[in-house]
Amino acid sequence: MTAAIIDGKAFAADLRGRVGTLARAFEASAGRKAGLAVVLVGEDPASQVYVRSKGKSTLEAGMASFEHKLPAETPEADLLALVEQLNTDPAVDGILVQLPLPAHMNEAKVIAAINPDKDVDGFNVINVGRLATGLNGFVPCTPLGCIMLLKDRLGSLSGLDAVVIGRSNIVGKPMAQLLLAESCTVTIAHSRTKDLPEVVRRADIVVAAVGRPEMIKGDWIKPGATVIDVGINRVPGKVEGKTRLVGDVDFAGASEVAGAITPVPGGVGPMTIAVLLRNALVAAHRNAGIALAKDAI
Ligand code: NAD
Repeated sequence: MTAAIIDGKAFAADLRGRVGTLARAFEASAGRKAGLAVVLVGEDPASQVYVRSKGKSTLEAGMASFEHKLPAETPEADLLALVEQLNTDPAVDGILVQLPLPAHMNEAKVIAAINPDKDVDGFNVINVGRLATGLNGFVPCTPLGCIMLLKDRLGSLSGLDAVVIGRSNIVGKPMAQLLLAESCTVTIAHSRTKDLPEVVRRADIVVAAVGRPEMIKGDWIKPGATVIDVGINRVPGKVEGKTRLVGDVDFAGASEVAGAITPVPGGVGPMTIAVLLRNALVAAHRNAGIALAKDAI
């Protein structure tokens, strides 16, 4: 079997287009643009790239982008004061504090300070609780993007066996909650799981979010399974001095067995920002009291 490729890049481009159309309609009814604020503390190069890219995508989607860059040595109290100012700013619908924060800051405390109704990353415990109890809240962007790709590919996920490898708060745990909400039978595997290959072999859906290059082998995959590879790992390239990106799944091996698989790059990666824009637009509608059809985006 040669797996179908799940084209996250194309799906994300389409989602961004739909968000853009709805953002213009929002501006016409609300008399203002939907607004997303991104806060970056310090000069971490990867975070700088993400923040630049988020700002550019926000503008492209017809929304207002507010970027706040603070020096690495900013006292935590100053960051909390900025978050409080953004919480009460009517032009700001969504707030994203780029992680990781410098070591002297308490990430949990900062995330807890974000107004849950502006928490478009879905990391605030109120939104974690809403997801766990089936209430309407904000869901972390990467796992929500994975669910969108899965539903687009498979339609109903009800009754399927899903294995999530990784239990981080950002990907693994919310991914498992979302699959459960879709009525999958969910197993969460992690670094202490015994006989991971056997656990993965049971799965109709495999979501890999580990951060270990090509760890999940083709012969672990059940024939016909759908494989979602969240991992982004930079490894030495074939040409000396060059690097390339690979996922957590051995793509060549798994695509011989799986029914469908996301590539790296071009699978889950592009979904994260597209879903962030989607979440910001949903926040804008809620904050402005403007209805948005349930399945509009
Ligand atoms: P993390 O380091 O917080 O969590 C990794 C998880 O993998 C842990 O729960 C750990 O228990 C598990 N794990 C580690 N070694 C294992 C092993 N040998 N067997 C089974 N499980 C093992 O990582 P994260 O933030 O969840 O990210 C995971 C991967 O996803 C990374 O490669 C990251 O770059 C990528 N990622 C991609 C996106 C995106 O596509 N936009 C977003 C977030 C994370």
